[in-house]
Amino acid sequence: MVATLYIDGAWKSASDGGAHDVHSPHNQSVVATVSQATQDDVLDAITAARTSFDSGIFTSWSFEQRSALVGKIADLLERDLKAIAKKESDDTGKRIIEAEYDIADVIATFRHFAALGLKQHDRLVDVGISRVNSRIVHEPLGVCSLIGPWNYPLLQIAWKVAPALVAGCSFIVKPSELTPQSAIALMHAIEEAGTPKGVANLVLGPGSVVGHHLINDPRVDMVSFTGGLNTGQTIMKAAVSTVKRLALELGGKNPHIIFADADIDAAIDNAVTAAFLHSGQVCSAGTRLIVERSIHDRVVKEIVRRAGQIRLGGPDDLTAETGPLISKSHLEGVTKYVEKGVAEGATLLVGGKRSEKSEHANGWYYLPTVLDNCNTKMFCVQDESFGPVMTVEVFDTEAQAIAIANDTPFGLSGGLWSKDADKAARVASALRHGTIWVNDFGPYKPAAEWGGYKQSGIGRELGEHGLGEYLEIKHIWTNNAPSKSGWFSDGGEG
Ligand code: NDP
Repeated sequence: MVATLYIDGAWKSASDGGAHDVHSPHNQSVVATVSQATQDDVLDAITAARTSFDSGIFTSWSFEQRSALVGKIADLLERDLKAIAKKESDDTGKRIIEAEYDIADVIATFRHFAALGLKQHDRLVDVGISRVNSRIVHEPLGVCSLIGPWNYPLLQIAWKVAPALVAGCSFIVKPSELTPQSAIALMHAIEEAGTPKGVANLVLGPGSVVGHHLINDPRVDMVSFTGGLNTGQTIMKAAVSTVKRLALELGGKNPHIIFADADIDAAIDNAVTAAFLHSGQVCSAGTRLIVERSIHDRVVKEIVRRAGQIRLGGPDDLTAETGPLISKSHLEGVTKYVEKGVAEGATLLVGGKRSEKSEHANGWYYLPTVLDNCNTKMFCVQDESFGPVMTVEVFDTEAQAIAIANDTPFGLSGGLWSKDADKAARVASALRHGTIWVNDFGPYKPAAEWGGYKQSGIGRELGEHGLGEYLEIKHIWTNNAPSKSGWFSDGGEG
């Protein structure tokens, strides 16, 4: 029986012996078999986290001690980078090389938070009264449910686990059931690094089953979630009864504006990468191309040519440039999305179907797709496909470009290309999105905050704020020369 649940410092099988197979999106082969937690297992994990937190076993560590632990975890992940990347690649179908980049980013995340933990967070406040010492101190928030998606499985979990550990929280991790292997590897590193029992727990299984207690249990103080908007809304509703803290990283439908005065070759190349990297399964994918009318034909013609020659392939295909979609149901969803786009008036210029190559027959490969003649009223412009689908809209003026780019319920990221620095600064300032790239698209660094405006989420991960999400702030006022308040009469004379 497999024992891949990590609860209260021990590796366990599901209480009913349940397990499920993980299938390769590349060829549907079974790449792993993992335990599938029952609701009882989830309750045990929450109990372990609550008990460890309330015991003070970890909260009593200093920030320096917890930073050292997180640094050690980074070292262990670095030691095992290739093995973890292989698991990530097996689960997601992405190429090994991409998975190795991802795990390197995971390690950088742990190192960032290890360094941040060494900074002084507390401060004295000058309240203008010499006998009073007023201090702002930061304390661990409590028990956290950390729930991640399947597209960058370990990276999205790392953005939560690393700051939670530095802050001194106890937690339960739940990766997507589709991609559990790298989270298991992380738990091994957390265990080996010497994390106290019960602080870090791992449950596996579908969100519809194991998610319930993670988001409803009153003993959970915070839910940090990365995933789709609908699940995020479910989590918000569940948080109401005990006013849980929430950190939500949700979807995106990210505008990518190209002005006629841009470096067009660089803009085109980046537009292709922005839309089709990881087959569009990127929350910040630049899937909405918004291009100035005068250069539309040139830009779109070249993007279509480039999209048509992108090489698809599985984890071990060294010639491949991107991989499959994560699952059959996701492939079906993207297929319907494109059909709907065409039905509402978009012009299909390339792609628009599953790959017909024999070597892709058992995998979930969808061709890079460009839909032209789109506008903000369309479903395919407003809704996220999370697949390799670029929509194209045109504009004539700067004001129009801004209005189109902001006409979305999402606000995760956006990019713009122009050689006019003043215009670029004006547009960057006017865009209502959490990250804006000027003459670039896609890079992020652990030292910079990441998160969404509007329906793309609540809060920020990474940067300094990403640690703050896991801390409570307390004000301690100490009067060193106590005296009567004198507000109410004490009933004496006068
Ligand atoms: P989902 O919302 O379907 O799932 C995300 C996680 O939530 C999974 O672990 C899932 O479990 C779990 N889950 C599902 N239902 C519940 C529930 N009722 N209670 C608790 N947990 C639940 O998203 P996807 O995995 O499909 O990820 C794709 C989405 O994530 C896209 O919309 C994308 O934009 C967004 N995303 C956002 C990022 C950002 O930084 N803003 C980064 C990456 C992705 P299971 O899968 O096992 O059922």
